[in-house]
Amino acid sequence: STGARADIGVTGLAVMGRNLARNFARNGHVTALHNRTQSRVDELVAQFGAEGDFVASTDLASFVASLKRPRRVMIMVKAGKATDAVIDELVPLLEEGDIVIDGGNAHFDDTRRREQALRAEGLHFVGTGVSGGEEGALNGPSIMPGGSKESYEALGPILESIAVDVDGTPCCTYVGPDGAGHFVKMVHNGIEYADMQLIAEAYDLLRQGLGKTPAELAEVFRTWNEGDLESFLIEITATVLDKVDAETGKALVDVIVDAAEQKGTGRWTVQTALELGVPTTGIAEAVFARSLSGSVDQRKAVQAAGTLVGPSGASLTGAEAEGFVEAVRDALYASKVVAYAQGFDMIQAGSDQYGWDVDKGAMATIWRGGCIIRAQFLNRIKEAYDKDAALASLLLDDYFASAVSNAQDSWRRVVATAVRLGVPVPGFSSALAYYDGLRRERLGAALVQGQRDLFGAHTYGRVDKEGTYHTLWSGDG
Ligand code: NAP
Repeated sequence: STGARADIGVTGLAVMGRNLARNFARNGHVTALHNRTQSRVDELVAQFGAEGDFVASTDLASFVASLKRPRRVMIMVKAGKATDAVIDELVPLLEEGDIVIDGGNAHFDDTRRREQALRAEGLHFVGTGVSGGEEGALNGPSIMPGGSKESYEALGPILESIAVDVDGTPCCTYVGPDGAGHFVKMVHNGIEYADMQLIAEAYDLLRQGLGKTPAELAEVFRTWNEGDLESFLIEITATVLDKVDAETGKALVDVIVDAAEQKGTGRWTVQTALELGVPTTGIAEAVFARSLSGSVDQRKAVQAAGTLVGPSGASLTGAEAEGFVEAVRDALYASKVVAYAQGFDMIQAGSDQYGWDVDKGAMATIWRGGCIIRAQFLNRIKEAYDKDAALASLLLDDYFASAVSNAQDSWRRVVATAVRLGVPVPGFSSALAYYDGLRRERLGAALVQGQRDLFGAHTYGRVDKEGTYHTLWSGDG
């Protein structure tokens, strides 16, 4: 129709949709607006109408009619049933070749289902990860779009124009077909869980081991932020530790209830990792550590009972304390490398399982900005995959291999010290166990195979010849 002049439309104008719409408009795209409740549209236009060229609509039909073809409709509603409801309403209004984009936090299985359904209608469905929260949505998120390659040709330039820019490269690239974008976003969130858990372990251990105050530890993290660990998460850790509670005058971290919450993407990552059979132990331990912290009644019962004994209150002295800060930094870095290596293995496993052909180096590149896990470190990952896209593990890249090997003495010292002090470090210790598990020539798994064959005739392989074997374990030979 003659009124069709919008380059892109956003339906769902809560905090994320509103900020993305403003970001599109600020970057010169004529942006159509729609929301189930009209007031959100009116408020956006009233408050921010001067920022760009908006086309406000009162109903979905006129919203769709205001879009140039192929129409690009971005859905930013509450993930789940609402997304399906909006899609069902949209589809009859669209025409062949139009592009529906879901920027919500959808599960990649839902995205696969929706993509298939819309493809059957001649429509493109782009499930895209959008990282960076509301601030990122407005000023530059990291964007992980899936869907058909063809749709990316029509959509990519617009998305790249609103994505955050790092060293001249937009943090947005085509990820792969159907659910690939949401899958990669999910793994990103899982890695975020693991990274946060490791930092929390470093904090807890330094506090217990050296008796440092939160303000002193803020200074430690600020120093770390100048080296290999430089990242948004280390930076905000210093900020959190520095904060004083206005009411009590205590460090705010000491006033905050120590029960971590979660919205569910970490859990999705672990569930999916289990299905794919990828040992993402760092993410799993992080999710479980949050669950344990949140088991408040159980923790209270244990403390009240006082029957589960162990060390408490002891600090390190003399030679034990010497160099401990640096050792914890090394252990943190090595554990972080393992967590990321596992996350990238998971992306590869998903890519293999679903035929996505995801470029892992490109994922590291688009996570350098906008994301919670943004860090210098991601450049190293990109370089590793540039050198060898088929790398069997990030840990085998020269840089990471030497980083982890150089850290291993400190890593063992830190885990041993934590065990002795009674400070739980599931992230550090499981990362080290993973490292040793990969490294070790012979694993205890030979015994497991023997047990399986004994009780279930599951058979086993032999080290000295090909084939499958079964033994009559209780017989005479
Ligand atoms: P939200 O609170 O998740 O959702 C509110 C929006 O959904 C409103 O526009 C609401 O419309 C609409 N909605 C809900 N049910 C609907 C239905 N049945 N039909 C039509 N519209 C419906 O909003 P948000 O926090 O801005 O997040 C939007 C999406 O982005 C979510 O999927 C979220 O997971 C994802 N996300 C959020 C963040 C973040 O930091 N918040 C970051 C990345 C991704 P009404 O105004 O009419 O109620």
